[in-house]
Amino acid sequence: WGFCRPPRMIAPRQWGIIGAQGDNIMLLGCIADDFTGATDLAATLVRAGMRTVQVIGVPEGPLPEADAVVVALKSRTAPVEDAIAWSLAACDSLLAAGARQIFWKYCSTFDSTPAGNIGPVADALMKRLDAGFALACPAFPTNGRTIYQGHLFVGGALLNESGMENHPLTPMTDANLVRVLAGQTRHGVGLVPFATVDRGAGAIRSEMGKLREWGKHYAIIDAITDQHLLDIGEAAALHPLITGGSGVAMGLPENFRRAGLLPLREDAATLPPHGGFAAVLAGSCSRATLGQIGLAREHMPSLELDALATPDAAALAAQAIAWMEGRIGAEPILIAASAPPEKVAALQQKLGRDAAGALVEEALALVAEALVARGVRRLLVAGGETSGAVVQRLGLRSLRIGEEIDPGVPWTYAEGQGPSLHLALKSGNFGARDFFVKAFNHG
Ligand code: ADP
Repeated sequence: WGFCRPPRMIAPRQWGIIGAQGDNIMLLGCIADDFTGATDLAATLVRAGMRTVQVIGVPEGPLPEADAVVVALKSRTAPVEDAIAWSLAACDSLLAAGARQIFWKYCSTFDSTPAGNIGPVADALMKRLDAGFALACPAFPTNGRTIYQGHLFVGGALLNESGMENHPLTPMTDANLVRVLAGQTRHGVGLVPFATVDRGAGAIRSEMGKLREWGKHYAIIDAITDQHLLDIGEAAALHPLITGGSGVAMGLPENFRRAGLLPLREDAATLPPHGGFAAVLAGSCSRATLGQIGLAREHMPSLELDALATPDAAALAAQAIAWMEGRIGAEPILIAASAPPEKVAALQQKLGRDAAGALVEEALALVAEALVARGVRRLLVAGGETSGAVVQRLGLRSLRIGEEIDPGVPWTYAEGQGPSLHLALKSGNFGARDFFVKAFNHG
């Protein structure tokens, strides 16, 4: 199958031998079910001292050199067969590049449908890795996601009373993750409860061992604090497969360090030096982004595109391109299609919801292309879907993860078909009010 090593649990002694082959061999291979989740995980790993690259979509060809590679799929709500096929293809290419451990990353609110895709993908990876057992822990206390007695809380509310029960694509109507995961897998699911987790890595490890003896293949693990997550990570040092949110990845870099495989890297977040011109492109209409635009307007030349007045992608892009001439330079400029809810609703009423979104995304992708063609090499994009459209249009394949501007939004060094550039992709609600201004003082 093209594995460069048998996909089995590897003893630390063997790790040492493999690691002696060089400094540039991948240690941790990650598969994420969506783009912003992948970035969040990658930023977590960089913070813990791993040089990390995010690859966009199922990898084609050799993977970039890094301690950790995160493959960003768009598989959360894809048909289950697709989610499995893409995840296995990603897994194979991570193993071929030397990954010693595979991490299956999903959302901290366990976003899934009764059909999956968390359980079915985990089953397929478990089989491929011959793993026999994997923990499942989406907890992320910093963001208010905690697990107690197998029940997931969002802030003070149970998952199914947190608003997630109304999610348009993945409504979560049961907070009991043991039951939810059991409904998605052929295998038995157990629980490592808080009382055990609170006693540290040794206790967690031996409880997982017992569950395995009792025929369980998965364990939901309670976690309320970051210390719990670090202990869970340590307890899973020798697991071929780990599943969870980005929180549980916090403890994994230290395992590789303890095994002598990961040097102390002060420079894990260092990107190649930047040059060229700077720009911000906004397509998010979230309250946070509208506030950031409001403040940035006082600090940089700004153009607000009116998609309602010009409901044509090419014509809108042409307006932006005419405006940018003479303004583009080392100091950032801002081009935004973002609008308050009533204007968004008006365009959606005129064109339909999907067509309205697609029109603006197409226009902004064209503008991004024009900016890069005119020498922009530091580009900040606001909006999850908008970012997807821009990345696709620019033909970008991988992002080396750098320093965070605000939590969850790092500068990255993007490479692909065209020129390489420094890129920051901000999902709508992220970032402080001065985000667009301070971003260019970073990295
Ligand atoms: P967020 O991360 O805030 O959800 P996204 O980029 O994912 O941002 O989604 C915002 C959507 O709104 C995109 O599809 C974008 O094209 C669309 N959009 C942006 N500006 C407008 C507008 N003025 N009218 C209608 N839709 C818009």
